[in-house]
Amino acid sequence: MTAEATAAQRSHGVEQLLADVPPGETPDLSGAFPRLEETRLRELEAWGERRPTTRGDVLIAEGEPEDTFFVLLSGRVAVVEALGTPDQRVVRLHGPGRFLGELGVLTAQPAFLSDVVVDPGEVLAVPVDRLRALAAREPAFGDLVLRAYLVRRWLALGEGIGFRIIGSRYSATTRQLREFAARNRLPHRFLDLETDPMAEQLLRSLGLGPDDTPIVLYRDRLLRDPSTAELAAAFGLRDLGDGGEICDLVVVGAGPAGLAAAVYGASEGLDTAVLDGVAPGGQAARTSCIENYLGFPSGISGGELAERAVLQAEKFGARRSVPSEVVGMEERDGNHVLQFADGGELATRTVIVASGVRVRRLPVPGLEQFEDTCVYYAATPIEAQQCVGDPVVVVGGGNSGGQAALFLADQAAEVRLVVMEHRLDENMSRYLADRITHDPRIEVHLHTVVEELEGEGGRLEAVVVNDTENGERQRLPARDLMVFIGGVPSTSWLPDSVALDSGGYVLTGPDARRATERGDSDGPDPLLLETSLPGVFAAGDVRSGSVKRVASAAGEGAMAVRMVHEHLAAAR
Ligand SMILES: Cc1cc2nc3c(=O)[nH]c(=O)nc-3n(C[C@H](O)[C@H](O)[C@H](O)COP(=O)(O)OP(=O)(O)OC[C@H]3O[C@@H](n4cnc5c(N)ncnc54)[C@H](O)[C@@H]3O)c2cc1C
Repeated sequence: MTAEATAAQRSHGVEQLLADVPPGETPDLSGAFPRLEETRLRELEAWGERRPTTRGDVLIAEGEPEDTFFVLLSGRVAVVEALGTPDQRVVRLHGPGRFLGELGVLTAQPAFLSDVVVDPGEVLAVPVDRLRALAAREPAFGDLVLRAYLVRRWLALGEGIGFRIIGSRYSATTRQLREFAARNRLPHRFLDLETDPMAEQLLRSLGLGPDDTPIVLYRDRLLRDPSTAELAAAFGLRDLGDGGEICDLVVVGAGPAGLAAAVYGASEGLDTAVLDGVAPGGQAARTSCIENYLGFPSGISGGELAERAVLQAEKFGARRSVPSEVVGMEERDGNHVLQFADGGELATRTVIVASGVRVRRLPVPGLEQFEDTCVYYAATPIEAQQCVGDPVVVVGGGNSGGQAALFLADQAAEVRLVVMEHRLDENMSRYLADRITHDPRIEVHLHTVVEELEGEGGRLEAVVVNDTENGERQRLPARDLMVFIGGVPSTSWLPDSVALDSGGYVLTGPDARRATERGDSDGPDPLLLETSLPGVFAAGDVRSGSVKRVASAAGEGAMAVRMVHEHLAAAR
């Protein structure tokens, strides 16, 4: 088929789509689609220009940067997923007074959806840099736009709207892509080969079969079995330039400690980059509700907290890159050179080690058989979707296990919480323990440990547990197993010159001095959060003796930046 014929067929498909658009608008869900008042519209006119629209105009195109803030003055616009493809669908409809776009307007990420004029009229087009200037001048307006965009992203993630991932729920590579997309809050729709007839239909239309999956469909691109790095590059998540320059500060790890360091570093004028091997948010992003973080009385999901922090860091000019796993660090010409898993390097004057802890795996035989398909180390909407209607076993007597059991009880058919402690509030906050005790949907197994997993072909059927008080074995039905049994520090990438404690956590300040000969040398003592290697600091869970909480990690990230300044000033 010629390019002209394909274009004609596509435009025919779009006309058909618009012909089927129902009347009305999408309701304003949770403040996602507010209508701007007349006075605000008049004020915005001074910052942009009026433009007439005709039916079929594409104002925002999937895959293109969102560099204009559009406000509808008259007419209607449809927000379309997969525009011009066989599975295109209208996901939202907007009328006069509403503004278009998604978080990409603020982050310079390419658009995930297309906005097409259904009923002609007029729009106000404001360049994004002017929108930013106006938002800085009028914080209330800036907040309204930011909040709407955050809710739009949150709704899209929850409803499964965006680019398409096609594969089997039982495939390890498909799960890796889905998890990467979810952790990085990339809106996407998962088409499961096991249950969704559209998945096979789409594959056939592309001349592909199930063996070609997983595939990613985005704009007019087809990525066949892409790596997470390819996916990240397609969505603009890697921003380290050519690696030729020397940064003032590189933060390794974008959990709460690393993100706080990036915000304070960049806002105080340091050329700052923040890297993560997986996604922003760290452990915090593995929970759907943090209730003890200052300023959020009704709680906030770790994913949203991370998203807000990334926006804030980028606003001040910090660069971020995922997936960028650091595998080594060495000194060269008075700088620290970080080495990445993909072979790249980045030089910097100072480093903040904020690599936190990685999950501890359950020590049971045969875990690998199920790990890629039925074992999870997080409890967010993506895991909840996987567990709908399933019997689930949650392992872990800390706050993370308790939060997961409560969250999953809304989706799963049965939830069993297995803890080795003799009392539920032994290692869990009292408020959580009380809620679980009074929740009839959760069956608690105290002084119990997991001994065996049963199932076949990567599909879990039961978890065999042992009561450590009476030695009784029990078989708990389970399709999914959620594990929250703490973590081990992510420090294997650090050179020997960074002293660690016996558990592998990074020593700082006086402890670092005591552990090395640095205290006996003529050089200055390490600063409070400085490691035994001058110019390298540590913050958050990875630091020996730190309080393992979101607030303290963020606090230490901010404090470490103060010490980076002191170090740089002394080195001048
Ligand atoms: C499920 C769960 C629920 C929780 N709930 C709460 C709560 O309600 N309240 C509370 O206060 N605390 C809670 N916590 C604890 C809290 O999340 C942690 O204390 C906090 O996240 C620590 O932040 P951090 O930045 O120090 O490290 P982390 O959050 O561990 O982040 C470290 C980051 O570094 C990255 N990284 C590691 N190694 C490398 C490398 N070599 N290269 C590049 N990147 C790397 C990781 O991918 C990760 O993103 C919870 C923890 C979990 C697991």
